[in-house]
Amino acid sequence: MDLSSYIRNVNNFPKPGIVFKDITPLLKDPKAVNQAVAQLYHLTEKKNVDLVVGIESRGFFFGTLLAQKLNCGFVPVRKPNKLPYATVSETYALEYGNDTLEIHKDAIQKGDKVIVHDDVLATGGTALAVCKLVEKLGGEVVQCNFLMELSFLEGRKKLSGHNVQTIIKY
Ligand code: IMP
Repeated sequence: MDLSSYIRNVNNFPKPGIVFKDITPLLKDPKAVNQAVAQLYHLTEKKNVDLVVGIESRGFFFGTLLAQKLNCGFVPVRKPNKLPYATVSETYALEYGNDTLEIHKDAIQKGDKVIVHDDVLATGGTALAVCKLVEKLGGEVVQCNFLMELSFLEGRKKLSGHNVQTIIKY
């Protein structure tokens, strides 16, 4: 099954000139979802990880499913003021302005082996900020994985030093 056929291109979303990769057709098909999880699992060489950290919000879908498959815990990273308990935050630069992400301060224990997961790797700024959050709490990022990679934006360069794995490459 070619998973890329379950990804819909949406022109001019969220801004004019952007072609948004939409995973909702994939989410609607249980066989495609199963295959995506199996492929993410297959990309994980070391299965003895402690946590999958998923990035709000589309990173929650497959991050949770992958954590189940790996029999490990799932931790959400969210936009500011969404998490109820005490948090640690990381601010990172966007093309125009900044963004901030938060994680619960007790979500990761020192030495935990962590997979960072999101739906799309674009410039890599978001995932890099999440790697920094994990490391601030003493975790070790053993892999960053994504359903899709927009190769021309060179997110891998920004994440150099990390093990980056993706299923679909554009
Ligand atoms: P980056 O920080 O530039 O790598 O952007 C990655 C973040 O933007 C991720 O959280 C993605 O969910 C989101 N993103 C960027 N482009 C797309 C897209 O085409 N479809 C879905 N999400 C996207």
